[in-house]
Amino acid sequence: MRIIDLINNSKKTLFSFELLPPLRGNNINSIYRITDPLVEYNPTFINVTYHQEEVVYKKRENGLLEKKTIRKRPGTVAISAAIKYKYPSVEVVPHLICGGFTKEETEYALIDFHYLGIDNILALRGDAPKNQRTFIPEKNGHAHASTLVAQIADMNHGKYLDEELLNSFHTNFCIGAAGYPEKHIESPNQDYDLRFLKEKIDAGAEFIITQMFFDNQKYFSFVDSCRKAGITTPIIPGLKPITTLKEINVLPQVFNIDIPETLVKEVLKCKTNEEVFDLGVEWGIAQSKELLKANVPVLHYFTVGISENIRQIVKAVF
Ligand code: FAD
Repeated sequence: MRIIDLINNSKKTLFSFELLPPLRGNNINSIYRITDPLVEYNPTFINVTYHQEEVVYKKRENGLLEKKTIRKRPGTVAISAAIKYKYPSVEVVPHLICGGFTKEETEYALIDFHYLGIDNILALRGDAPKNQRTFIPEKNGHAHASTLVAQIADMNHGKYLDEELLNSFHTNFCIGAAGYPEKHIESPNQDYDLRFLKEKIDAGAEFIITQMFFDNQKYFSFVDSCRKAGITTPIIPGLKPITTLKEINVLPQVFNIDIPETLVKEVLKCKTNEEVFDLGVEWGIAQSKELLKANVPVLHYFTVGISENIRQIVKAVF
């Protein structure tokens, strides 16, 4: 089923979470160790992230560096299918990115998702690989998420890349896009960012999932700004509980977000990462309860390889 219909047909806030494909070399049980404890709390959907290939340099015996292109977290399509068939009552939302894909490859991926019975896609640009300063699209690929959204919307209208295809099937994907309450790192300001967020909605995105934030006021004012900019779609807050001391420095760098001073002070009082983990759960419960009171459409959690903290939050909140 399409996420937008599930949201529109629900009178209460729904629960969902995002899953990262495991690092290469793991087996499927490392996925189920994350999903099984959370599926007990009836998530409406599970997102599966997509990870682009990266270039790594390995030292050879002769001391020279060997350049290799690897995908550290492969398996998005297969994991999406495995989840769909293991938990029939849960929708799956694979992420599809512009990075590393030509438009033809995007079309092939969409055809795979369609054949697998997947109805929802989160359409993203993707970040630049670690060793690249800026995002560089593939030749004949998408430079921005808005044109990826438009390609998916075209398929929903039966328009494929080969214009000679006649009577082609109209897919029925519900398309989501990313939003940034504290603005995207590359945007000069929030108005600029909102302009392009609106472009994704105008191209056919029907819901937004936000970047993580630790201060709910940032989410509430983002929603206000979106509404003023004419964006009327559901805006799903994305939440990640803090788990280790070093995250108070790493998360702001990677995701361009602020961590409120009250939370930083509490984290610095912790003597172990176990204490930070418990504090993260406590903060996550408080954040979730306030968002629930504000009738947000869905509470969406980023698991990042751990589900116990999310399990404790969801148990306390729903
Ligand atoms: P876009 O909407 O294309 O925006 C990127 C930047 O370009 C913004 O600054 C925007 O303002 C600007 N911009 C947009 N359109 C234009 C235009 N036409 N002209 C000029 N500027 C423009 N990354 C992954 O690699 N895999 C994932 O699975 C993944 N999942 C994510 C899930 C969520 C909920 C979120 C919030 C992010 C996720 N990301 C993921 C990260 C995301 O790919 C990065 O934040 C990326 O840098 C931007 O993606 P976007 O889709 O928001 O890009």
